[in-house]
Amino acid sequence: MLSLYNNQGLKPECFVSQKYKAKKSLGQNFLQDRNIARKIVDSLSVSPDDRVIEIGPGQGALTEYISEAGPRELVLLEKDYNLAPVLEEKYPEADVIQADALEFDWTKLEKGQGWKVVGNLPYNVASKLMWDIVSLSGAEICVFMVQHEVALRLTAQSGNRQYGALGAWVQSFCETRYLFKVPPTVFRPQPKIDSGVVKFISLSEDEKPDNPQGLAKLIKYCFQKRRKQLGNILKSFVSDDMVRWLESEGLSLSARPEALSPLQFQGLFNCVKNDFPLDL
Ligand code: SAM
Repeated sequence: MLSLYNNQGLKPECFVSQKYKAKKSLGQNFLQDRNIARKIVDSLSVSPDDRVIEIGPGQGALTEYISEAGPRELVLLEKDYNLAPVLEEKYPEADVIQADALEFDWTKLEKGQGWKVVGNLPYNVASKLMWDIVSLSGAEICVFMVQHEVALRLTAQSGNRQYGALGAWVQSFCETRYLFKVPPTVFRPQPKIDSGVVKFISLSEDEKPDNPQGLAKLIKYCFQKRRKQLGNILKSFVSDDMVRWLESEGLSLSARPEALSPLQFQGLFNCVKNDFPLDL
């Protein structure tokens, strides 16, 4: 349901307005560079058969190019009650939802329906959003702009210093690619840090975890103690089966969590699933 408030009296033509005061609390750093905006949208490869949901369209930097590509459905999810009505006026073909993306029911994006998700994500909620989207939605492709450091974590392979719970989790559902780096100078107001654009390509259903809830707990549990060895972290759950499985993977109880690939976390979960408490 759209909020009708528009305190700042914005009109669509004010979109790239200097007058609009960006809200820090909503992570508003608006992209000013049209070439980068186009490049981000191009990497989503929108066709008329696709359905696209954009998170935090803001002043429409990406929306313009998504709309131009003519997807069969376009949903704009914007928390800012000043901007949502402006978007609705400028993009009448879109379904504008004025809401918090953290509260959105991502299961509505059913698999096989051609859903793609895109957004220059507000930095303070980006990790939580991506965690939920990859595991709950049936989206086929996502393209997100996030902090450069987060982009590195999302695309890091096991064994890498940047690899952690977020990377292991997202890569349990998607192949992730770092597309390109974006400097602070192309935003208004300018953030203090570099950004990076990442692309997620959904794995096939049979490659995804059978028990995502359990896997999430195990990954978080292990990475909370990332400097410790698996034998220590999981000491209450070690079994002969686990030792055999680790050996078959070229691992041992002395391995640290960052040594395990996303698929190996699924294997490890299979070893502990009967004992591992979900309410940890
Ligand atoms: N897409 C625009 C661009 O590239 O210029 C704006 C990007 S700005 C970094 C983040 C946008 O997300 C803002 O429009 C902000 O209002 C919106 N936003 C912040 N938190 C949000 C949330 N929890 N749910 C939905 N939108 C949110």
